[in-house]
Amino acid sequence: ESAKTVQPRTAVYDSSMARDNSAQLLLLSELTTAIDQHHLELYYQLQVDLTAMEAVGVEALLRWNHPVRGLIEPDSFLPMAERTGLIRPLLDFVLTQTTTQHLEWRREGIDLALSINVSTRNLLDTTLVERVRRVLDAGMDPRMLTIEITETSSMTNPPLAIETLAELRRLGVSLAIDDYGTGYSSLAYLQRLPVQQLKIDKTFVLDMMTAPAHRVIVRSTIDLARTLGLTITAEGVEDLDTLMELKALCCNYAQGYYVGRPVPAEEIPASVSKLNAELKECTDTR
Ligand code: C2E
Ligand code: MG
Ligand code: MG
Ligand code: MG
Repeated sequence: ESAKTVQPRTAVYDSSMARDNSAQLLLLSELTTAIDQHHLELYYQLQVDLTAMEAVGVEALLRWNHPVRGLIEPDSFLPMAERTGLIRPLLDFVLTQTTTQHLEWRREGIDLALSINVSTRNLLDTTLVERVRRVLDAGMDPRMLTIEITETSSMTNPPLAIETLAELRRLGVSLAIDDYGTGYSSLAYLQRLPVQQLKIDKTFVLDMMTAPAHRVIVRSTIDLARTLGLTITAEGVEDLDTLMELKALCCNYAQGYYVGRPVPAEEIPASVSKLNAELKECTDTR
């Protein structure tokens, strides 16, 4: 058991990799060294409180600055990292990097809650809670940290997931279900998890102003989540009309290209000021 949970920094070849072509294998060996070579970077995407109409948080999103291929998005390398166990050092990188950044912004007077993504393998890793506790010890207020998991990862091993989530909750961090609506779980199942937030997947939000079925799904999800005492974030908000509609539907938070694209950390302070000024203007004039 314990031998199995030790995940070496070097990737191990396993049978599931038979699917991978040689290009993927090359990418994998490069990813193994990318952390040490500082080729991985976190981008941050702003989140808006729709009641206060101001920026209140960021979600950290991993990027790989590949020396030859340029910027690589997470969907192109995270599945491979997940299959090989590299996802563990990646999470440690994310935890250290983002909590340090959060504290740095605080010192600059910028108070933004922080959301990070945790994969299925990360969630089922019995060392997760201890590793989160360790980074919080550096001085971050646990209430300012949200850990996002997907419906699918919560359903892979429900008893272990529930136990781990409860322990994370005891640390004082907040828990969110990401991409809600894309899995097969019901709110009846999800409300048994010790989570506080629901993020509606962008596929429903992107076209909610033109697709009546999606608008209905978004509206009823917001209503149900509120009834269950969960706060709700809409992902994929790409225009002002959608943002104002979500506000009218009493959605708590919005995230998306209209609010801000994911950007490197150094762009965040200026983005916050610019966004808050724009939001103030649009609430004054509407
Ligand atoms: P996610 O957690 O659901 O993150 C939101 C994704 O939607 C991001 O894609 C973001 O760039 C994109 N997005 C945000 N606003 C909009 C919008 O208005 N329109 C559209 N079309 N897209 C929008 P990204 O950065 O490519 O990340 C994809 C996924 O990779 C994430 O989905 C998350 O599941 C995973 N991921 C990213 N960073 C990490 C990480 O550090 N650890 C883990 N385990 N997973 C991560
Ligand atoms: Mg997320
Ligand atoms: Mg999502
Ligand atoms: Mg996603």
